[in-house]
Amino acid sequence: MKYLKTLSLTIFIILNSSCTEAKTKKETNKTTQTESKTTKHSDFIQQKITDNLYILKNPNYNTNVGVYIGEKEILLVDPMTGNNNQEQLLNAIKQLSEKPVTYVINTHHHMDHSGANTFFKDLGATIISQENTKYTNATYDVTFKDTYTLNLGNETIELYHTVAHTFDDVLVHFKSNNVVFMGDTYMTNSFPHFYYGGGSKGHLSIIDKALALGDATTAIVPAHGNLNITKNELTTYRESSVKWMSRIKQLHSEGKNSDAIADDAQIQQLSMVFNDGKDVSKQNIQRTIDKTIAVDFVDTIELNANALKNYEGIYQYENGQVDEIILQNGTLILRSEGNYMYEIVPILETKFHIKGQFPNKYLTFDATNTQFVFFNGKERLTAKRK
Ligand SMILES: [Zn+2]
Repeated sequence: MKYLKTLSLTIFIILNSSCTEAKTKKETNKTTQTESKTTKHSDFIQQKITDNLYILKNPNYNTNVGVYIGEKEILLVDPMTGNNNQEQLLNAIKQLSEKPVTYVINTHHHMDHSGANTFFKDLGATIISQENTKYTNATYDVTFKDTYTLNLGNETIELYHTVAHTFDDVLVHFKSNNVVFMGDTYMTNSFPHFYYGGGSKGHLSIIDKALALGDATTAIVPAHGNLNITKNELTTYRESSVKWMSRIKQLHSEGKNSDAIADDAQIQQLSMVFNDGKDVSKQNIQRTIDKTIAVDFVDTIELNANALKNYEGIYQYENGQVDEIILQNGTLILRSEGNYMYEIVPILETKFHIKGQFPNKYLTFDATNTQFVFFNGKERLTAKRK
């Protein structure tokens, strides 16, 4: 019975892990171990985009792993997670080319994109990520802030950072091959997912950036779902995203909760559009709406920059973990190296909502700003200013 419980929990974790938040190292190891059991007999599907660019996909995570075969080397975009998957992925790559894997680029840190970083690093690859990866548990070597260019013989690969799905999203543009990888900022089989980073504004901003790259024939690769998407299809996805966000905004402003919003006919129709024409459970729609409200439509109060600045500092929990609060572009960021990065917004003079988190999480400061209590949805953890 205990085994059955573990197994069903494992399946649940796998089904729900395509866009998970940064997990603690302990949780990550647990996921990896359990996943390896279920992927033993699975295999990778190979799909060609251009003569030099392929996608390898494994049924468990369905992440579109990009394989670029250069003159001397191989570059991967988003190697997925899992011990057995890693060996299988390497075998699948070797069927395409025996050249060494020299570079790995992550579109963001989530484990179904970065999980095999260490495996390929140990084989000699350099991992390239956006610098906010420092605040996650993903492995990285080279980081950049806004843009990064990699010249590999005939191909130039340009990376662009925008906060959208997470704080470390990267668009990957293969200029000669005329292909753009969008990571989880575009999935053809799932709702728009912009809760852990830039909200709906960031979501549209990164789509606009992708639409501006290359030319009318540029192929767009979503991280999950169909391949070789045209810019017209991405434009349609953008329009659907706008309808989705404005409908939620309208119904929310009319005082409807997520339960009532999920019953709306237009919301249900858009849910099918986002999920490859498949019916989606009301629970799933409602959870997505709750997260959208938690990142975009929380009632905040106005605090000026000086007032916000008072909260900046280094705070330490009893277990030794350190959080940093900084003011960045007019908003407060709570971040912890190796753990997490959140935007926090004031809902009271001393209480801050953590954006995109549902069930809601809060930071509550004492009157003198010398300590806060972080309610993480389960427990209250006190951190004192250092
Ligand atoms: Zn993700």
